[in-house]
Amino acid sequence: MKSYRKELWFNVPTRRAFINITPQIQECLTASGIKEGLLLCNAMHITASVFINDDESGLHHDYEVWLEKLAPHEPVNQYRHNGYEDNADAHLKRQVMGREVVVAITEGQLDFGTWEQIFYGEFDGGRKKRVLVKIIGE
Ligand code: ZN
Repeated sequence: MKSYRKELWFNVPTRRAFINITPQIQECLTASGIKEGLLLCNAMHITASVFINDDESGLHHDYEVWLEKLAPHEPVNQYRHNGYEDNADAHLKRQVMGREVVVAITEGQLDFGTWEQIFYGEFDGGRKKRVLVKIIGE
């Protein structure tokens, strides 16, 4: 069995953003040489997400509005977590959007549904953060 591991680094200047990382994941798959197997991609931080959905700007705006309703950033003193930090909302948003995705690898391709794309969701930006890509198979 082959195994491949890579860390992708991001430094998002804004507090929140959604970034389509499908091209970088595709590069990892090509570099791995794996044709049949499984790909895991996870955020290595507890205030960021990796998720699969549509690359459609209206939907991304809807996520932003919905997440801000669920867990507004301000007032920051509404959260017990915000003693020394101001990122409690980012932990909650990440929980909703998820930590990781698993994608089947078939005939050397990401075996997606029609509109599926992989996104990095940043909820507490302004610093360097990592995403792990792990691929196993033959
Ligand atoms: Zn925190």
